[in-house]
Amino acid sequence: MQEYLQNVHKYVAFCGLGRYNREYIIENLMRVVGLDRKGSMKFTKKWKTYIATGLIIASFGMLAAGCGSSSGSADTDKPLIVGTNATFVPFESKDDKTQQLTGFDIDMVNAIAQHLHRKVEFKNVTFDSLIPSLNTHDIDMAASGMTITPERAQKVLFSMPYYQSGMAIMVKDNSPIKNYEELAGKTIAVQLGSTGATLAHKIPGAQVKEFNHSNEALLELQNGGADAVLVDLPVAQYYVAHHKESHEKVIPYANTKEYFGFAIAKNNPELQKAVNEALTEMKKDGELNKIYQKWFHVDAPDMPIQWPESK
Ligand code: GLN
Repeated sequence: MQEYLQNVHKYVAFCGLGRYNREYIIENLMRVVGLDRKGSMKFTKKWKTYIATGLIIASFGMLAAGCGSSSGSADTDKPLIVGTNATFVPFESKDDKTQQLTGFDIDMVNAIAQHLHRKVEFKNVTFDSLIPSLNTHDIDMAASGMTITPERAQKVLFSMPYYQSGMAIMVKDNSPIKNYEELAGKTIAVQLGSTGATLAHKIPGAQVKEFNHSNEALLELQNGGADAVLVDLPVAQYYVAHHKESHEKVIPYANTKEYFGFAIAKNNPELQKAVNEALTEMKKDGELNKIYQKWFHVDAPDMPIQWPESK
């Protein structure tokens, strides 16, 4: 009987009820079956049989009804719909051969979904449509190398940081440009809606060319249509290392420190909490570091639990 109550406990927790409600339900259930807190029965054998049968029938009823009132992360029946712009190597891209999504973010999301006991369904969309899609509930979460910024944090919730990034200037090998200041008056290619685009718009006299996909901005530089690209440092480094033929170099822009977070709709703090719990677990048990090692070949750095820290 104690074991049965433990299972009821688990089931009620699974339905997303808070601890107080849970205690209340369990307390009453125990009273109904004549158990005290220590678990000793006060009923005869005949009664026990009746009660056990009744409870089994009731459990089936609960299962059939499902967790009707639950929402967000606790709703394990529904797949987690994750939006991404799969042109941001090595965070998210489409494998040429298999056409499957691959990358650090993809592995992270799959691991988080396992913690949440949910299946994942990815939606490949443009980067600048991710936040609107969260607010219209077309997606539950955005995983797209998205920097946590105060402007975005007004529109969506963010998970705790899971990656530390920074900005980089990418130029041709033979370019005279040596730093951010020298971008004045130049043509800069960027990803539409990115932090790189925001930075580019602050450069005096610069012509900013915005593309829906990061790889298009990188191609523009390669094809001579831009003097520079402003993009996240790890993406620039990965690109240069894997496209030696395009003769480009990376100038890290030291003034930036960015953290990536998974974005979630404002009205879904349950999912934010569940994702943060999963990330905390993954940091503790080394799973995050394992995924980090797979993609970046170094250990994951220490990251703040909350960003911006002053919040
Ligand atoms: N980290 C950058 C941002 O959040 C770029 C993201 C991206 O292009 N996928 O704007």
